[in-house]
Amino acid sequence: MSSIFSQIVDGEIPARIVYEDETTLAFLDANPLAPGHTLVIPKAEYERLEDVPEDEAADLYATIHRLVPAVEDAVDADATTVAFNNGEAAGQEVDHVHCHIVPRFEDDAGGPIHAIFGDLPDLSDDELDDIAADIESQA
Ligand code: 5GP
Repeated sequence: MSSIFSQIVDGEIPARIVYEDETTLAFLDANPLAPGHTLVIPKAEYERLEDVPEDEAADLYATIHRLVPAVEDAVDADATTVAFNNGEAAGQEVDHVHCHIVPRFEDDAGGPIHAIFGDLPDLSDDELDDIAADIESQA
């Protein structure tokens, strides 16, 4: 069974499509967090950001880069929160990579992405050094 977003790509489910090219598609979110809330996807179905091949990831970023000012202009937004819920534990509900472009306004009630998190972890310098070394070795 293909994802709900693949069904949009295939024209089986209607959507308010705002941009399309060979490898990417952008359309309005059906349950917008703000007017203009837009989703950008690779047309091919990948579950997580790290599953997207590098060339298609570059295409995806190019479409995000193109859509951010278009969305901001369309709804006269002051800014945008641009985010991926990458994996179930992060709140991803649709298993087809998608970038949220959510318009933001000076007086809206949303906070920064930092507001998602509760207490900050108390990490020593040694722990930070170890984590940085681990990431560097995998990058
Ligand atoms: P997630 O929680 O997976 O990051 O976000 C999924 C997003 O997809 C939600 O914001 C939800 O409103 C949106 N969505 C789910 N089903 C549909 C649909 O059929 N059409 C559109 N346009 N958006 C959808």
